[in-house]
This record gives sequence, structure tokens and C-alpha cells, in this order.
Amino acid sequence: MDDMDNKTDQVSNDQEEMKSDEYWKDKLSPEQYKVCRKHGTESPFSGEYNDLKEEGEFVCVCCGNKLFLSDNKFDSGTGWPSFTDPDNEESIATTRDASLGMARTEVHCNKCNAHLGHVFPDGPAPSGQRYCINSVSLDFKKK
Ligand SMILES: [Zn+2]
Repeated sequence: MDDMDNKTDQVSNDQEEMKSDEYWKDKLSPEQYKVCRKHGTESPFSGEYNDLKEEGEFVCVCCGNKLFLSDNKFDSGTGWPSFTDPDNEESIATTRDASLGMARTEVHCNKCNAHLGHVFPDGPAPSGQRYCINSVSLDFKKK
């Protein structure tokens, strides 16, 4: 069961950014809290960054960790901001997610463990990856 993996993952992540549930409830909006801390998903085409074409960096809305660059953003037509690559290997982490009867790979912030979205192996070349990310999990820093 993947619940076990998730728990092990959280316990082993002893970075100082690991905060309590109460901390996040206080700091985040209800929508942000639901998506980032409770593995929620925003409605497609609802997010403020879905259509964004400006140049800049996408950072974690919870902790400010740099996650994705506008250079790697592409229009996937799915209704969620989509990226071919993370900013770097250390900015995100992934875990297997077997919820909803589907085997998916969950993407979370490597610094504060915020849930960001999922990654699918059907993106454009050269990476072939599609990071499908909730706008709610992101903050945009214009270049
Ligand atoms: Zn974070």
C-alpha cells in the first residue's frame, strides 16, 4: 500500500520547513490548504496560471522554493499549468500515488512537502514528461 511509503517519506524528511497542520491552515487560503496539504486538485481551467505566458519563475506557494521555469511551460490543453521539467532535480520529489484506482506519480515540493500535482510520461520531447501542476500550489515571480 502506498500509504506506507508516504509515511516513511514524511518521517525521513526532517528539514526545518516541515510544519504542523495548524501552521499551514493559518498561513494558507482554504483552497491552498486543500490542494497543498490535503492532496486536492483544483478544477481544470480554473487556475490563474493555466494560460500564463509571461517569463519568470514558479515557486512553491507554501515555502517559496523555486520549482518550475516559464521556459519549460507548455500548453497541454488539460486545463492545468504543465511543464516538461522541474527547475532542477532537487526542487521537487515524487511518490507513487495509487488513489482513485490509478497508478500515478505524485509531485511534491522537496522542501516543505506541499502537494503540487502529478507527472505523466506523455509530455513533449526531449524530456517526454508532463508535470501537471495546480496553479493554487504555485506563486509566480515575473522576470
Ligand atoms: Zn514548498
